[in-house]
Amino acid sequence: MYYSLFEIFAVGIGPSSSHTVGPMKAARRFVENLKNKGLLTKVQTLKTKLYGSLALTGVGHGTLQAVSYGFMGLNAAEMEPTYDYLAEVMQNKQLSLLGQHKIAFSLSEDIILEKDITLPEHSNGMTFCALDENNNVILEETYFSVGGGTIARQDEINLRIDRKPYDVPYQFNSCRELMQICAQNKMTIAELVLQNEKAIQPSHFSVTKNILRLHHMMQQSIDIGMQKEGYLPGGLKVKRHAKEMYERLQNKFANNATDSLTAIDWINIWAFAVAEENAGGGRMVTAPTMGSAGVIPAVMRYMERYGKFNSETERKNAAITFLATSSAIGSLYRSNASISGAEVGCQGEVGVACSMAAGGLVAALGGNNNQIENAAEIAMEHNLGLTCDPICGLVQVPCIERNAMGAIKAVNAARLALQGSGAHIVSLDSIIKTMYETGLSLNRDYKETSLAGIAKNALSC
Ligand code: SF4
Repeated sequence: MYYSLFEIFAVGIGPSSSHTVGPMKAARRFVENLKNKGLLTKVQTLKTKLYGSLALTGVGHGTLQAVSYGFMGLNAAEMEPTYDYLAEVMQNKQLSLLGQHKIAFSLSEDIILEKDITLPEHSNGMTFCALDENNNVILEETYFSVGGGTIARQDEINLRIDRKPYDVPYQFNSCRELMQICAQNKMTIAELVLQNEKAIQPSHFSVTKNILRLHHMMQQSIDIGMQKEGYLPGGLKVKRHAKEMYERLQNKFANNATDSLTAIDWINIWAFAVAEENAGGGRMVTAPTMGSAGVIPAVMRYMERYGKFNSETERKNAAITFLATSSAIGSLYRSNASISGAEVGCQGEVGVACSMAAGGLVAALGGNNNQIENAAEIAMEHNLGLTCDPICGLVQVPCIERNAMGAIKAVNAARLALQGSGAHIVSLDSIIKTMYETGLSLNRDYKETSLAGIAKNALSC
């Protein structure tokens, strides 16, 4: 199935696309369904049950707040990160459904964490139940947050998305098909994606302008993150480091120090800046998730800083090529595997971001389609088995450093691929299949539950 570039890269509020943006969307869709059925004003009580990973790490990931925002009818892309939308809920224990119908509501009493129950369809399950004044159920629905902010209702779970397949000129389900279509039509992967996007977006919508807008927002999150200091929320007392890392590097230059690995320091700073912004609940672009949102912006900044561009137009075209190519790679992972840490571990988040970034970088630097596939495959090959074990359920440790490691690995994968002809033994399709099988066979405790790994052994929360 083809996933749009604007699904792979979507705007929201951190820290987690699957635990924040997805539940918010699901909660909003549920109350909109109530409204469409003429039931909204009959609601007296609204109960939510969170299951599996959502229950185990939802408090640290901000899921309870996200569900409340959804009931209020808020949209993650339009929210102001610094505004306190929950003031009335916290002070008066009241919530206005879609801003139209007030009910009594308490985060701690009306959202139940079913930590011992994981629904069979997916680890990120949630059930919403609306009751009338006589305590009769008037509507009950179960949703799943399947990764990257995408949701599916229980009856849609086989499609893993709440929409019909897009009608695009170039439909592909595997990298093999993608490469064949590109060869037959003598086009690059980025050109194919741009053609598909033009077919599915409304006529007034400028595809390239909106890709550049996403690029700008990603770069903005680097700049904002590099200016902030202090501690991240959540009680773990994780200090923001990007600003001091940046200042240390500036001092080094001021003292005329030379270091052949300075590019690595820069990539670390850029990835930290975005990942810290995400952990702090800032505005983010999923790439392909929020936990892994630092990888692609950092690699794009590296491309801009170290690539050879003769004009601003060349620079912009490189950014469009990068994001279009990496979205096709992201689409392959979403169609044939998963980008949910709760389903396949961090290999599905930072691993996929690394793979997308490596392919995007090769494309932007002029590599051919085979080299792009090679880079994306190398990048994932060395993320296989990566577990998801965030300490205290917060998207901070190991997540922030992991973004930096993913970005550096992506640059190395791209450099390796660019040094070859594009010929390779392991195909991207086979590595995607391997990643998925590895993820499914990982013990559940290593998939965004904070019950094992570093989360268990480093310190107790
Ligand atoms: S360990 Fe990876 S997948 Fe898990 S929360 Fe952190 S960034 Fe996301």
